[in-house]
Amino acid sequence: MLSKWLWRFATERDSWWRKLIDIKYHNPSSVWQTEKVRSGFSQSVWENITKEYELFWKFASLDPGNGSMISFWHDAWNQGIVLSSAFPRVAAATVDSEARLSDVASLNGELVSWSFNLKYNLRGGADRERVELLNFLNNIPMNNNAFSPCRIVWNPDPNSKFSVSSLYRNIVQDTMPGVHDFPLKQVWKKLIPSKVCFFMWMVFHNKILTVDNLKRRGWLMANRCCLCCRNEESINHLLVDCVFVKEVWRHINRGRTVLSFQDREVKLIIKHSPNSKPGNVGEWFRECILHAVWWFIWLERNQRVFEEKKSTTMGVARRAARNVMEWLLAYGQIDRIQGEAWLHELLLI
Ligand SMILES: [Zn+2]
Repeated sequence: MLSKWLWRFATERDSWWRKLIDIKYHNPSSVWQTEKVRSGFSQSVWENITKEYELFWKFASLDPGNGSMISFWHDAWNQGIVLSSAFPRVAAATVDSEARLSDVASLNGELVSWSFNLKYNLRGGADRERVELLNFLNNIPMNNNAFSPCRIVWNPDPNSKFSVSSLYRNIVQDTMPGVHDFPLKQVWKKLIPSKVCFFMWMVFHNKILTVDNLKRRGWLMANRCCLCCRNEESINHLLVDCVFVKEVWRHINRGRTVLSFQDREVKLIIKHSPNSKPGNVGEWFRECILHAVWWFIWLERNQRVFEEKKSTTMGVARRAARNVMEWLLAYGQIDRIQGEAWLHELLLI
């Protein structure tokens, strides 16, 4: 298995072969992996090895320790999430995109404070992204090894050591110990932009900043769903029970039923959402539409709260469906004619 070499690269810091590889494919953003190699015509051995990164990082994680060897923005040091792709606007505004975790975080007693060192003040959507990032960071369980060195951990193994057999077992089982309940494949989909997958991750863990969550953090405010103006806002109301959302799904399912739910709870809906190997345009749409609808409901909600702008249920349905088509086009799964024809039939436009 080629993944073994990725493990050895990350752990055998002083070996001569690692130094050679590091010179050739040096990655300024991370000491844990090389740049992805794209050589064009002749494929090198290392290029084939780096194709395994995605699989490898599903099962490996970084224990940041004192943070001195972790790239804050580019290493997946927390739950497999790369912050520069999940929070691109904040990352773009930082003075030092190569900052180490230890440069950004400082520990005052029990509390961690974060300084992103921004070039300019963020406004609007970018500032909301900054608040979401802080919210995300403040939810990280802090462990007691703040002074130990950073290390790479192989999650399937109780001793955190890599073995080909454990990798194989886990690919076959397709689960990760300790996170049995987390529907990895339903949340992280290669063809969907990572900020949208990250949003789903936040939804699954009940971490998006809906009014009920803000109140739990001590904010004082009236709780009213801004989409229907009737019920209180909670994640489950906003994404499942609200009449506005139901109406959006009615538009989406008008031409043909793309998705219908048996469950009424966001976690179960995510868990039971499609995760097949799509064969045709319709199946590809089914694969992505839940992410898209919820993401655009969330954007609509934020637009109403922060910018006092409103769209209709049809507007949100169209935006969600059109974006799914754009994702599929970018991923090379469909061509534009196929996609437009499908959209037309789907929304009867
Ligand atoms: Zn509502």
